[in-house]
Amino acid sequence: MRACPCGSGAPLAQCCAPLLDGFARATTAEQLMRSRFTAYALAQVDYLMETHAARTRPPREDVAGSADDATFTELQILETTEGRPDDTRGTVTFMAHFTAGGKTSAMLERSRFEKVRGQWFYVDGDLP
Ligand SMILES: [Zn+2]
Repeated sequence: MRACPCGSGAPLAQCCAPLLDGFARATTAEQLMRSRFTAYALAQVDYLMETHAARTRPPREDVAGSADDATFTELQILETTEGRPDDTRGTVTFMAHFTAGGKTSAMLERSRFEKVRGQWFYVDGDLP
């Protein structure tokens, strides 16, 4: 079985796939972060749009461009604050490894998440 791109060690079918397919919702900010990384890795642009807070959501072509231009290879979760099932906001600091244009690169970001009516959304991110 294919390992989940998010690096959890679990098979994709038992990890992020149910979220990407709409059969389950992320219960924590970290779970949403992981599923969004997997969505980037699999170029699931719909999921990236749906899980981005409306007020900060970029144009679809920008999201599709990021997903298409880079091959996302590894996610490292460095730190999380709040973001638990009972919280309504949280942050996840991560390093995302990818290749683009034949070059290996990595992006460090502290992402902010919020939960609205029981659903986690990505809001924005900055350098930790
Ligand atoms: Zn996963």
